[in-house]
Amino acid sequence: MSDVLAELKAGIVKFQTEVYPGHQDTYVKAASEPQTPHALIVTCADSRIDIETITQSGPGDIFVTRNVGNLVPAYGEMMGGVSAVIEYAVTALKVRHVVICGHTDCGAMKGLLHPEALEKMPTVRSWLKNAHAALSVASSLAESDEKPSELMRRLTEENVLLQMQHLRTHPSVAGAMAREELTISGWVYDIGKGKVRISDDGGRVFRPVTIDGDA
Ligand SMILES: [Zn+2]
Repeated sequence: MSDVLAELKAGIVKFQTEVYPGHQDTYVKAASEPQTPHALIVTCADSRIDIETITQSGPGDIFVTRNVGNLVPAYGEMMGGVSAVIEYAVTALKVRHVVICGHTDCGAMKGLLHPEALEKMPTVRSWLKNAHAALSVASSLAESDEKPSELMRRLTEENVLLQMQHLRTHPSVAGAMAREELTISGWVYDIGKGKVRISDDGGRVFRPVTIDGDA
């Protein structure tokens, strides 16, 4: 047995013996009722993002989909997992909010800035086409003497905003927003600082979430 599988099994045992007993009622209740998550969160597959911990969500609270770069293909293009998740979350589960959550130090954003690094990853390169408009905007807005870190921050934010635009092209989302049953927001999670900044209107200003909960 691989060391990795042994480590994962040890984690399961720890969950079963140390975590589950203290929260058994929550899990039993969650299993006995249909799920009614209040939000769909689209975030990056990056292993450092623990979205349930960041939002302090428990079983049944949030519907989550993750992919490289927290991308949402515009409706009609690359119809697949992400599109199906969105349609199901909005139409069947009737989530009331959708979040696009990007993050600092994102490998996908680095890949956009350095496509030569993706030479041996044609699938990733193709997937990242869903973020090319963000690269174009971020590059266009860049000052001539802009630091690479500033360009990364700008690209990460522009990507979140672009994916919010793509979200609106999905009929299920557009319809629910028109009925005022659904709102959307864009987040950037700073892994090192544990902070989240939010654009709640799709504009370029990402405001830190303050202690009283306002974004
Ligand atoms: Zn990422």
